[in-house]
Amino acid sequence: MNQEEEFWKTILNIASERFNNRTYISFIVAAQLAKIENQTVTIALQTLLQQDFWEKNCTHFIQETAIKILGTTVTIRYIVEDEGGDYPPNLEESSATYQVSREPSPSATVPILNTGLLSKYSFDNFVQGDGNRWAFSASLAVSDEPGVERYNPLFIYGGPGLGKTHLLHATGNEVLNNLPRARIRYVSAETFLNECIYHIRMDSMEEFRNLYRSLDVLLMDDVQFFTGKENSTLNELFNTFETLYKQQKQIIFTSDRPPSELNNLEERLVSRFAWGMTVDITPPDYETRFAILESKTQGSQYSFPRKTLEYLASQFTSNVRELEGALNNINFLASIKNVDEISIELAAEAIRAKKQESSKRLVIPIEEIQKEVGKFYGISIKEIKGSRRVQNIVQARQIAMYLSREMTDNSLPKIGREFGGKDHTTVMHAHEKIKKRLETDDGLRLELESIKSKLN
Ligand code: ADP
Ligand code: MG
Repeated sequence: MNQEEEFWKTILNIASERFNNRTYISFIVAAQLAKIENQTVTIALQTLLQQDFWEKNCTHFIQETAIKILGTTVTIRYIVEDEGGDYPPNLEESSATYQVSREPSPSATVPILNTGLLSKYSFDNFVQGDGNRWAFSASLAVSDEPGVERYNPLFIYGGPGLGKTHLLHATGNEVLNNLPRARIRYVSAETFLNECIYHIRMDSMEEFRNLYRSLDVLLMDDVQFFTGKENSTLNELFNTFETLYKQQKQIIFTSDRPPSELNNLEERLVSRFAWGMTVDITPPDYETRFAILESKTQGSQYSFPRKTLEYLASQFTSNVRELEGALNNINFLASIKNVDEISIELAAEAIRAKKQESSKRLVIPIEEIQKEVGKFYGISIKEIKGSRRVQNIVQARQIAMYLSREMTDNSLPKIGREFGGKDHTTVMHAHEKIKKRLETDDGLRLELESIKSKLN
């Protein structure tokens, strides 16, 4: 281990001892040591909130560690990976273009905004196809005129890796193009929740509320994360929604399932999710996959013959993220082999390596499956393993059994034992039942895809 690595590892160790798990996950995990140069340590973080936290709580032990390991004091610099930049860039600018806000926000009291937007996602580099056409058009309409009742809120749902997050960022970026002074924030449901907990703990909820309730556009990703969560944070979400909605501010939610299937989430929230327009994204058809591949390989240093693209389009049918992953593998292999043109053989080899990689990981503990299923449906592991016959628990239990059978090599009796000592016939019955339902129930299929993607 070199000195820099040792320095960074020590800091992470100290942080993990000093802070509880939740804090560590919210504020430390995403941090990266960007560089150490001229006695300046640069640390990359994802949000301004994290920067705040580091400045307040970590400076001291970073200095101590620097002295101990680098033998010198250092200047500490933080960079926040917010490509969109802080907002507002210039408060003095004319407000003539500030059309989003029908009642201009009281900018004097409004906190500086970290938009959370990634500029790499745009409408231009999003390939349209039958599966995503509605979601694409609705996002475009919103970016053109945010806050219109028909599209508010806009709720986009679909399986993993189909472009939901991409569309959220693209919408935010486009709104900023049209209305540079608009107050926009992209946030995952998980981050929203962590921020909320942080502010409750720091007794600074006022700041949190000011931030979220002064937005013109709120882009909230993966709201299925809220299922089964505590009331106080959900209440904040609800009140944020109410405030923004009443002022005709635009809200977009994404989720891996439609509002009607967000079990264990307050009815008043679920119903609001569906107030405006709900659109789904389904996996791309062959033509769209081909077009996506064409677009993603366009600027590549390697040439991709049509045959290779056709082959790749036939290999990845349900998830654009996997397709991108395959392209990365191919690029890597091409660089090792020092070739210019990507043959079908090379592509196949790269994909094989990828598939082997994932099959190696296929030793999934049953407990892990129970945990993910529980998390998804907002049910505890104890209930999944137990024998209560309440409908949603029974269903989650059967799904966990089904996945244990499908995704692991365990025998039926072994699976039964892991579910609190149930008979192997119970497992068999559960497996058959879910299998049958999957033939007709697209919603359920989507849910399982989503759970599986967490396990792989
Ligand atoms: P989701 O949020 O639905 O899980 P993402 O938006 O993260 O999926 O998409 C996964 C990856 O696939 C991203 O890198 C995204 O840019 C890409 N992607 C998905 N759909 C498309 C599309 N139609 N055109 C171009 N890229 C896409
Ligand atoms: Mg996403």
